[in-house]
Amino acid sequence: KLFNEIQDLKGNIRVYCRIRPFLPGQREKRTSVEHVGENGELVVADRSKPGKEGHRLFKFNKVFGSDATQAEVYSDTQPLIRSVLDGYNVCIFAYGQTGSGKTYTMTGPNSSTKENWGVNYRALNDLFDISQRRKSSITYEIGVQMVEIYNEQVRDLLSSDGSLKKLGIMTHSQPNGLAVPDASMHPVKSTSDVIQLMGLGHKNRVVSATALNERSSRSHSVVTVHVRGTDLKTGSALIGNLHLVDLAGSERVDRSEVIGDRLKEAQHINKSLSALGDVIFALSQKSSHVPYRNSKLTQVLQSSLGGQAKTLMFVQLNPETSSYSESLSTLKFAERVA
Ligand code: ADP
Ligand code: MG
Repeated sequence: KLFNEIQDLKGNIRVYCRIRPFLPGQREKRTSVEHVGENGELVVADRSKPGKEGHRLFKFNKVFGSDATQAEVYSDTQPLIRSVLDGYNVCIFAYGQTGSGKTYTMTGPNSSTKENWGVNYRALNDLFDISQRRKSSITYEIGVQMVEIYNEQVRDLLSSDGSLKKLGIMTHSQPNGLAVPDASMHPVKSTSDVIQLMGLGHKNRVVSATALNERSSRSHSVVTVHVRGTDLKTGSALIGNLHLVDLAGSERVDRSEVIGDRLKEAQHINKSLSALGDVIFALSQKSSHVPYRNSKLTQVLQSSLGGQAKTLMFVQLNPETSSYSESLSTLKFAERVA
């Protein structure tokens, strides 16, 4: 109910902020997070300034402090998942610098225990649960694709030979069509099918990462869940899709320090993240022109950004003072659309 009110105000965009805890063994314990309010307020502090001089207030739909559990972070997301089964498109993504907890939020540290599950597995688990409960009136078929976008190239993470095949995008696809029709599509019947597939996708990504180290932090990973429901009485179809996106790290690289491939990567990331920001900003302003064409990322996600689609952004923060300037730029990105 609350989300519907927010939808009306914000054009279907919700922004949650999550603060990563200090990690075991981490020496620095000074945090730039001053206050986490219950109603989505966040105060961060520039510790180089005295007292309250360095304080800045931000407001989001919700802020999760460093002690929030995976279950708490997911808890309000279920209505979005239900709407996918009702035929809506939904996009959930995590934004933040490398090490801020994007993968932890979206996937989790590992899939072995349910408590650890990130948004991806919880969302799919709910999709199966809810579709089961509806099975006397609607039958659902669910399929999964997984691609990465690296240097403005889209690659299949789930091809049968693990070859990271390069793929084209359908820029004129129908709202419910496939943006990347040639990415392999895998029918799934249970959460364990999904865990297995995503495990394979992550492995394929890691294999290529030995050549281009830490590629995963410099590429976007996009899991697309296609849902097709058939009403048993009328025979009519309901089609919805869900994009689950672990974005490339948003950190700025110092142009004077990187050259060649690293600079090219940084420029591609920069371009695609600003394109994403521009699209969401245009949507939040209910602007008549939404600039989807400016990056592969926004083209791939187009069906789940804007129109009737619902978007949830997790803004991830590193807590330590040394990350203050990156945190601030992350918060400014989020503030623009919140
Ligand atoms: P990113 O994907 O943004 O680069 P990660 O998700 O890999 O960041 O997180 C960086 C490190 O912090 C990992 O070791 C991860 O397990 C840990 N971490 C992140 N968020 C949390 C959290 N909420 N609780 C405990 N550990 C976390
Ligand atoms: Mg990551």
